[in-house]
Amino acid sequence: MKRTFLIAGNWKMNAGPSEASKIATELVAAWEGKSFQAEALICPPFVSIPAVAAAFGNSAFKTGAQNVHTEDNGAFTGEVSTDMLKETGCEYVIVGHSERREYFHESSDLVAEKAKKVINDGLKAIVCVGEVLSERKAGTYKEVVKEQMNAVLNTLSGDVSDQFVVAYEPVWAIGTGETATPEQAQDMHQYIRTLLNEHFGSEVAEKIRILYGGSMKPDNAADLLSRPDVDGGLIGGASLKADSFSEILSAAESI
Ligand code: PEP
Repeated sequence: MKRTFLIAGNWKMNAGPSEASKIATELVAAWEGKSFQAEALICPPFVSIPAVAAAFGNSAFKTGAQNVHTEDNGAFTGEVSTDMLKETGCEYVIVGHSERREYFHESSDLVAEKAKKVINDGLKAIVCVGEVLSERKAGTYKEVVKEQMNAVLNTLSGDVSDQFVVAYEPVWAIGTGETATPEQAQDMHQYIRTLLNEHFGSEVAEKIRILYGGSMKPDNAADLLSRPDVDGGLIGGASLKADSFSEILSAAESI
């Protein structure tokens, strides 16, 4: 069964409101008069979310956030809550991106807590997992991903398939130009599907989308997306240009 693709852009700390609005406007213009089957999502920096949501207007493009706090409000300087994100029109939140795990020391337990909060509050969580290069080379990459997955799975039950998305992002492929081969991606995605199966049972596991992230570009997207357990992409660099993001979306549409 092929699930509805989710093609998601992670703009990281790029594009303030005016630039964000320009790229979002170009995206909408590129698809004017055309429809797509996939879900297409852009996750700008917090301050640019309203500009992107306004530029997307009634189009099929959706907005999301790159992070969230686990509390509703209070003395948490610099943080943003799920309610605030909902108010700006966000539907999705990326949690546990490897840059948050590495530079902001987010543990698997904190990532799990965030994912649970996002889902409980009616948003959709894109939970990132993935190994670093030394773990890939040492052959321990599946254990690493299993530990990251288990932390999240332990907080979830029932049919969360509409609100829970996994993004497999081998850290060695993020922003490096180095992509996992479609075979490496499928192998890990299939493994993640097995973990989902064990936890939720096959009916739910089959519906949960597993995205690939790590230097996905127009020229490798179709090959990756055509693998049976690759249900979309989380795209960094190539999502910052309307043309390349559109080309990846077109690649998804062609499958
Ligand atoms: C990412 O940051 O999630 C990512 C996959 O980045 P890039 O596409 O630039 O490798």
